[in-house]
Amino acid sequence: MPRLSPLTTLQIVLLSTLPVLTAGAAPAEAAADGGAAARPAGRSAVLFIGDGMGPAYVTATRVAKGGSAGRLHLDDFPYTALVRTWSATGPVTDSAAAATAYACGRKTVNGVLCEDATAVYGKRDGGRLESIARWAKRRGLRVGLVTTARVTHATPAAFYAVEDNRDQERAIARAAIDSGLDFILGGGRRFFAAEAPRVATDGWQPSDRDDLVAAARTRGWRVVMTGEELRKVTALSRPVLGLFDADHLPYEAPAPIAPRPAPTLRDMTRWAISVLRRSGRPFFLMVEGGRIDHAGHESWARTLVDETAAFDDAIGEATRLLDPKSTMILVTADHETGGLAINGYPEEKDGLFGTVPSDEGAAPHPVLTFAGGPGTREGPRGAPYGADDPRPTLFVDSAHTGVDVILYGWGAGAWQVRGTLDNTAVYVLLYDHLSGRASKRSELAGPRAAAGR
Ligand SMILES: [Zn+2]
Repeated sequence: MPRLSPLTTLQIVLLSTLPVLTAGAAPAEAAADGGAAARPAGRSAVLFIGDGMGPAYVTATRVAKGGSAGRLHLDDFPYTALVRTWSATGPVTDSAAAATAYACGRKTVNGVLCEDATAVYGKRDGGRLESIARWAKRRGLRVGLVTTARVTHATPAAFYAVEDNRDQERAIARAAIDSGLDFILGGGRRFFAAEAPRVATDGWQPSDRDDLVAAARTRGWRVVMTGEELRKVTALSRPVLGLFDADHLPYEAPAPIAPRPAPTLRDMTRWAISVLRRSGRPFFLMVEGGRIDHAGHESWARTLVDETAAFDDAIGEATRLLDPKSTMILVTADHETGGLAINGYPEEKDGLFGTVPSDEGAAPHPVLTFAGGPGTREGPRGAPYGADDPRPTLFVDSAHTGVDVILYGWGAGAWQVRGTLDNTAVYVLLYDHLSGRASKRSELAGPRAAAGR
């Protein structure tokens, strides 16, 4: 693993002031940028993160939705690259370290949010980093976060909280209220409630009796609890905190018979883009399909396909509503989950959720299998589709995997999405686009190349 050089305070200051120093210096690549560099004040960016959405998730969703020759909205993105997902811990990242790479541009150890690799998970803070969201807010952009997970969960949290332990979700809820962002939408209401649990994994452990929903209102947040309430908000005159479920938002499919109170990811994305556009200011928006990963951990193949399809729908909404001349859209995953594979030689008519014959009279095996995850021996537990979710094989432990993921680029500056990039390059692409700074290829390649080794 390349040696890591922690970002010093001085470097953070220099990095933060760089766009000021280079203001007016048009990037050499401006011609390829559709002329967007001529008016950097109008530059906006959207980062979509499909949590756990490895390459096989994309393929399986495409086949499930439209057959092998089908197309997702993602398939229409003109630029792609591979992204290396390793963290400072090792070849397999968790969502906190991966989100820190995207949000803050640095590798860190698993479990840590927006601190450098000198942090010791759960024990000692590392050097504080400034996220692209905080930086953009400081520069006068509108900034919003949207997720189907708890808003205090690792991926969104890396954009506004600085923590050596991702499970401190009560502290992260407090950071959300202090974030100064324009909106944060998702689940996780229980971490804002009076007598909320302090950490995510240890059940209900009251740490204090503060009602953080009331505190948010006192601090000027408009707090909404349903999709209906969200739709009534048409301007960002006050910051908006959407807490649509006590926990993560429900899976989007199988479709509920009664209308659910929580908005869908597509609803939230459409709302976010419409209020951001109406504000007339450039913006940064992060949208997470957070439950793709959860379905992957459970080995629920059909559920993860539905969640990935919902994520792709939200992406289609963004490309329909946004102007590619000024806006960059990046779509990627933080890591792959479960080792999903598409196996055997199923016929097209059979789809993905059945089985194919095994050799020499052995039991048929599923088309979709997982290298890890609960139920890999006994079959998936409590799957929303029951027996339709195929029986996976091999290991018992649930895990992320260390394979590269795909980065998709659309719109202004997206032509730089090519080759094999480090996950920290996603930050560089966003930062350079929003600031009008020209990207250096060595910075995109990763820490080793950036350090000249
Ligand atoms: Zn995960």
